[in-house]
Amino acid sequence: MSRKITRSDAEWRALLSPEEYYVARQKGTERAFTGRYWNTTTPGRYHCVCCGAELFDAASKFDAGCGWPSFNTPSVPENVEEAEDRSHFMVRTEVMCSQCGAHLGHVFDDGPAPTGLRYCINSVSVKLEEEK
Ligand SMILES: [Zn+2]
Repeated sequence: MSRKITRSDAEWRALLSPEEYYVARQKGTERAFTGRYWNTTTPGRYHCVCCGAELFDAASKFDAGCGWPSFNTPSVPENVEEAEDRSHFMVRTEVMCSQCGAHLGHVFDDGPAPTGLRYCINSVSVKLEEEK
């Protein structure tokens, strides 16, 4: 897939904090219950920390008890891209920002209705724009 936003590794490193770079550009994972949004219920929209693309609406956020922000569905589906991830001896579905390729987290099929999906997202990969 062609990205709308392409930057060199050095550019991302300069733009992001070390933790943002590690998770979003190197497919890292923040520790559970440590991120800034895991238990946030503030209304608003979550955007990609790298490029600002809108990804999730707080209205679809739910408490999955896993320590990461969890969403039922993306708010702008074309901004979210999925890929098979076979790391750590598991087969999971990785979730990325389709605009810039940022690693966001993973999607699982054990979420609540109506979608049955659980988008398990690193807080550090997203930025909440609070509803005014
Ligand atoms: Zn992005």
